[in-house]
Order: sequence, then structure tokens, then C-alpha cells
Amino acid sequence: MSTSSQTAISQENATTIHIANPLNYIAVNYIISLGLIAFLSIAVLFMLDGIVVEQNKSGKIISISGQQRMLSQRVNLFVIEYVHTNNLKSRQSALDALDQMEKNHELLLQPHYKAISSHEPSPFSEEIEALYFSPPHNIHNKLLLFADQIKQALSQENTTAFQAIYNASTSFLDPQKNDLLYSLDAVVERYELESAEKISRLRIAQNIILAIIILTIITEALFIFRPTMRNIGSYAELLRKEANYDYLSGLLNSRAFSAIANKAFFSAQRHKTDLSILIFDLDKFKKINDQYGHPAGDKVIKKFSTILSENSRSSDTVARIGGEEFIILLPDTNLDDAKLLAEKILRTTSKSSITHDGKTINFTTSCGVSQTKNSDTDIEAIINRADNALYESKRNGRNQVSTDH
Ligand code: GH3
Ligand code: MG
Ligand code: MG
Repeated sequence: MSTSSQTAISQENATTIHIANPLNYIAVNYIISLGLIAFLSIAVLFMLDGIVVEQNKSGKIISISGQQRMLSQRVNLFVIEYVHTNNLKSRQSALDALDQMEKNHELLLQPHYKAISSHEPSPFSEEIEALYFSPPHNIHNKLLLFADQIKQALSQENTTAFQAIYNASTSFLDPQKNDLLYSLDAVVERYELESAEKISRLRIAQNIILAIIILTIITEALFIFRPTMRNIGSYAELLRKEANYDYLSGLLNSRAFSAIANKAFFSAQRHKTDLSILIFDLDKFKKINDQYGHPAGDKVIKKFSTILSENSRSSDTVARIGGEEFIILLPDTNLDDAKLLAEKILRTTSKSSITHDGKTINFTTSCGVSQTKNSDTDIEAIINRADNALYESKRNGRNQVSTDH
């Protein structure tokens, strides 16, 4: 006889799961990790948006600054054309280009002046500010002077006066004497550089956030998803045990027993093999509870459960089907062998005892034995006959085995 492993569960296992409410636990973890990922994804979205806006803004500024260079050359070309052809259309074209140049200039400096008037720091970098307002480039002054000279020259009726002023104005376009064109180039280059730097900073930030998202997902998988799955597994195992096992004795409960016994009954019928049932009811158990207390009674139940487990084979099914009522299903066992086992269990029981509050408590059990008959249609019939035999044992003075006949 060996310990019936499928019937005994460790109580320790059944109580080591510390989940107050697994649904709350899973939901909270899930919401936290999803929330974090959502938050980071939104941050990435804003970054991307920032890059697009930045690229757009820089593109516009760079394009306008580039236009300035082209417009200054246009002004000069039309002025030269006007000088040579005296065509008023060329004069007008020069003035139009100049007007556009001034408007562009205003547009470019607008954010700077707006910030200064509201006492905020200029959006221009120190380098851009220097290009516009400090020597050697001083684009702002040069451009105003250039516009002024051209306008003055074009407003002259007298050719000599016109020529004098024009000569002065061309000096602004002559790289040997003046570098407005080069200054305009320098500012475009600077804008391009700063835009590239800003975008590269945004890209670095974006990559960092993407790395955080990936890390969050990995962390979630390792520290939230995996433990959650483990807890769900433990919880499912706990539920399975709670549904099938009796907590006090660790034996199968009557629901689980019925399922197994039904299968065994039909299998025995099909294979024409023996099947026996032993039913036990502890004797005068009420008295033990009354005399020593309920916890002492519980100890007796546990002790008797161990006796049953230790005296049954792994193919037998032991269950607690009531307060102090137990059952053993014995496949491939006839009535005589079942009776022998019952008598052995009764002998072991009557010799065993438990200790409670320093007192030794002895106990006995009565047993009823039955076996399948050809006329049986279900397992209940066999159980009922074992039950009747058990009551015969009780009637006849207890601590004895009776068989169905
Ligand atoms: P009999 O010999 O005729 O069986 O007498 P009895 O006193 O054992 O009678 P009965 O079967 O009616 O009493 C069963 C008692 O078992 C009643 C109930 O208080 C007690 N009992 C049922 N379940 C438990 C339990 O889990 N723990 C303890 N300590 N007592 C229990
Ligand atoms: Mg009873
Ligand atoms: Mg009893």
C-alpha cells in the first residue's frame, strides 16, 4: 500500500497565493502599463509634430532669406537696365523688387521685435542677432541703407545726380566694396545650420522616447505580464483544488468523487471487472467534539484521512463525503478483499490516537462494504448498499465492518 498521491494536497500550496482580487490586480497593472505606453506614444507624436512644424518654419525662413539675396540682385539688374535703356518699366521692376525685399526683411525680423516689445527673450540665436544687428555683417543697417540709396537714385530726374547716387548704391552690391550679398548668404547658412541642429536634437529626444517605449514594453512583459500569468496560473490551480478537494482533510470532496466513481462504474461494467466501495463514519464523533472541542475533532478528521490515504493504492479514490464520513472506491477489488482492507483500516484506526491540549484522544470508525452487482445501473446503487451496511455496523455496536449481502 502506498500513499494515494492524487488525493492528498498540501495545504501549504493551497494557501500560498496572495491575490486579494486577481481581476483588480491584472486590471491595475494593465492600465498602468498601457497608460505609460500611451503617454509615451503621445510624446513621440508631439515630437514628430514638432519636427514637422520646425522643418516647415525653418524651410519658410530659409526660403525668404534666400529670396532676399535673389531680390537684391534683381534690384541691381533692373537699375542697370533702367540706366542703359531709360525704360520706366525697368525702374518700376526695380522698385517692386525693392519693396518685396523690405517686406521680407520686416517679416524675418518680426518675431524678434515682437519678443522685445513684450519683454521676452528674442527667438533669434546670438549668432543670428549678431548677423542682423552687429558688425561686420549688420544686415539690418546695410539693407535699410541699400533701399534708401536705390530709392533716392531712382527718384532723381537729373542723370548726373542719379549716376552719383547709383554709383554709391552699386557699391552695396560690389563684393569688393560691400558684402550685403555675402551677409545674406551668411544668414541663410546660419538659419540652415540652426534648423539642422534643432531637428537633430528633436530626433535624439524622439529616439530616447522610442527606446523608453521599447523598454517599457519589455519591462511590462517581464515584470507585469509574466507575474500576472504566473498568478493567473496559480489562481486557476487554487480554484481547481478548491473545486475538487476538501480543505480540512486534503482529500477529494464528494463532487469530485462522484465524477470519478461514475467513470469507474461504467469502466468496470464494460470490462466486467470488480468494483467495491467502503464507507466510513467515525464513531460517537459528537462526543469527541463535545468533550475536547471542535479543533480536537478536526485533528481526528485529519488523522483518519491520513490513515485512509496511507492504506489505499494509487488506483483507489479516497474522499471525504460528509462531516466525518469518508468513502473509498476500489477498482479491480472484490467484496472479500475490500472487507480485508476495511478491517485493516479499522485496526489501524483503533490503535491510533491524536494529542490535543496534552490529552490523548482515541477514536474508532464503523465501515460498510459493498460490491457491484450485474443488476446495478449506476454507482449510487452500490453506495447505498455500502451505506446500509455501515448502519448495520452502527446498530451492532460500532468499530466493526459489515458487508452488503
Ligand atoms: P455515530 O457513531 O452514530 O456516527 O455518532 P456521531 O456522534 O458520530 O453522530 P453523527 O454522525 O450524527 O455526528 C457527526 C458530528 O460530526 C456532528 C458534527 O458536529 C460533527 N462534525 C461534522 N463536520 C465536522 C468537522 O468538520 N469538524 C468537526 N470537529 N466536527 C464535525
Ligand atoms: Mg455521521
Ligand atoms: Mg459518526
